[in-house]
Amino acid sequence: MTTTSKHPLRIADIAVPGPFAGPLSYRVEADQAPVPGSRCLVPLRSRQVVGVVTGVRPAGTDDSDTLKSIIQVLDEQPLLSPDVLQLARWVSRYYLYDAHPAYMLAFPATLRAGEAAELNDEPRLELTVAGEHLDPYQLKGQRQREALAELQSLHKSSLACTPALLRARGVERAHWKGLIDKRLLKQRTAELKPATPEGALRQEALTLNSDQAAALKALPTEGFSVQLLEGVTGSGKTEVYLQAMQRTLARRKRVLVLVPEIGLTPQTLDRFQQRFQDSLVALHSGMTDKQRNNAWLRARAGEASIILGTRSAVLTPIPDLGLIVVDEEHDASYKQQDTLRYHARDLAIYRARLLNIPVVLGSATPSLESLHNARQGRYLHQILQQRASGQHRARLETIDMRQQKHEHGVSERLLHRVREHLNGGNQVLLFLNRRGYAPSWFCRQCGWMSDCPFCDARLTYHRGRHQMLCHHCGHQERPQQQCPDCGSTDLTPLGAGTERAEEALTAWFPDTPIIRFDRDSVANARDLEQQLARAHADGPAILVGTQMLAKGHHFERVTLVGIIDMDAGLFSADFRARERMGQLLVQVSGRSGRGERAGEVVLQTYHPDHPFFTPLLMQDYPTFATQLLAERQRSGLPPYGFLACLRSDSAYPQRAEQLLKEMATRLLAEAGIRVFGPLPALLSRRAGKHRFTLLVQSDHRSRLHSALQPLVADYPRQQRHLTWHLDIDPIDLM
Ligand code: ADP
Ligand code: ZN
Ligand code: ZN
Repeated sequence: MTTTSKHPLRIADIAVPGPFAGPLSYRVEADQAPVPGSRCLVPLRSRQVVGVVTGVRPAGTDDSDTLKSIIQVLDEQPLLSPDVLQLARWVSRYYLYDAHPAYMLAFPATLRAGEAAELNDEPRLELTVAGEHLDPYQLKGQRQREALAELQSLHKSSLACTPALLRARGVERAHWKGLIDKRLLKQRTAELKPATPEGALRQEALTLNSDQAAALKALPTEGFSVQLLEGVTGSGKTEVYLQAMQRTLARRKRVLVLVPEIGLTPQTLDRFQQRFQDSLVALHSGMTDKQRNNAWLRARAGEASIILGTRSAVLTPIPDLGLIVVDEEHDASYKQQDTLRYHARDLAIYRARLLNIPVVLGSATPSLESLHNARQGRYLHQILQQRASGQHRARLETIDMRQQKHEHGVSERLLHRVREHLNGGNQVLLFLNRRGYAPSWFCRQCGWMSDCPFCDARLTYHRGRHQMLCHHCGHQERPQQQCPDCGSTDLTPLGAGTERAEEALTAWFPDTPIIRFDRDSVANARDLEQQLARAHADGPAILVGTQMLAKGHHFERVTLVGIIDMDAGLFSADFRARERMGQLLVQVSGRSGRGERAGEVVLQTYHPDHPFFTPLLMQDYPTFATQLLAERQRSGLPPYGFLACLRSDSAYPQRAEQLLKEMATRLLAEAGIRVFGPLPALLSRRAGKHRFTLLVQSDHRSRLHSALQPLVADYPRQQRHLTWHLDIDPIDLM
């Protein structure tokens, strides 16, 4: 091959930070060997940045002579596999977002920052053969003698020995360092050891019931397919995943399992770990950067055969991936709600298509999108009718709040039922989707209510800290002693949140443990584990909390579920609110009657005759979904039409509105595009910024994309006193 002296030999296309829809070109020096999927340090304006190589090619005539060179190639091996590179490129194009963040999504924070791609575990300390057999008393120094004795005893117990472990046993670095010089001890950095998936069981699989067996049989072992596995909580979906996984592992392929944000508890992990001998890694937001780094490298190297993770784990490079499972596929935590607003379930499906492998979507309450696809025959659809343990469905009834005396939001009738169940030695679960003590602070004389000065929202009273708190911007203030409008001191909390419910329940049932689950009482996985452990202890107890309680946890002793308030979802302007409310109602109801005991569910409402509740009271999610789908079809909403949401915010309302008006005009000039708005957002002011939204709809996805693309190119997301963003397939219209 001949090269002209004018052009550099090779060019690397590298995704770099900035508002670039694609990678930029850099010149490859003779001694550099970048490969697609590796990271490079490159110059960008006056900075040095970490970029991802997306391609390497011979220079063409279009390439400028003045291209900058790569400063340093950070990885000799590609860190991202071809399928992940392709997936990231698709993410950037589909969500109409910059390229670099899409590639960066695939990496843990350490690697995004440009750190070396290696395990940062502490080094292991290993005795040499001489160290194993030397009698410590032959050493002179007392400290070294003790250190060797300790190391030998650890060696016998075959515990992996690290400096931290020794320190915990009173042996400092200074004491064992000398042993290395004497060649009695070696330091070894941890290494990645790829392993072949086996599918060998640690624990015997259960015998599937007929529904489960049919579902497993219907799922192809290879080739692209999407299976929607629908079944109430406890119907045995997880057992089907486990057996499908085993099939895949036995074929020497790896498995990726996605779970919702809060779903990745030690309980869940245990269940997967107990079944298989193959090694498993978890990837979730509760881990430290270091832990994530190591788990990610283990997944990439093929050391783990099972990768269990939350949202962003969908972009983990995994060699020989053979199956993807998305548990609770309807869960809103799969959608990232800021910057790059991607949906992990949709990425999972795209990735399965790229790799030509099956993907299973499981849920008790499938999203309308998935249900529609299944009913149209695009997805396989298996339903688990029976509860795996032979349990009957919970009975559901309403309590008409218009005819009930109630205190702290709990009606006399519900209270009576709670007492009955506790007396029977059972547990009760009370659901209330509002944290804090009371959603407002209210003047009994003139009706004044405490508003956030920066948002179009009420402040929530938190009694424990005696603070008024804004759940939207974090603003805090002391509760007013005197009404700012009429001067009255007759001020009181209005409405009930979980904190208030807990307080009232403690007063009513002083001898019963009250276990609260909400963001204030459960901040992380460890808190959650602690509260769950309390809930699993013997004896009567009341669990009270928000939707955190609705998600997949097993409460064997709960026989009564009380839904204190769910009315808000009935009248929301967000068309998704009702879908979510129905899903939540079914999910929460599913918490009762898991053991041998029959469950009951009672719903407090001011609208007992609302047609929306009818199928839900019969625990008939499919009929409920059919109703909603008919509604969506009439209005051209997803899954029948395609939707994007443009949101703007500014301290100056006119500017925020003006921008969207301009965009609306441009969009309307395109064929097949409808717009709604701009309108003030449902939360019209947040943190001092006025917020507007513009909904864009089309019956054709490609039209929607091609209409939106020029807007993204023409309007910077950050302008003076104004920001805006685009949300493709929005799930939240707030
Ligand atoms: P889901 O994932 O749908 O909530 P699980 O798979 O967790 O359901 O099953 C619920 C309970 O029933 C678990 O305790 C599980 O061990 C048990 N189970 C599942 N399948 C079977 C089966 N075929 N035979 C007996 N018990 C089963
Ligand atoms: Zn007043
Ligand atoms: Zn606020």
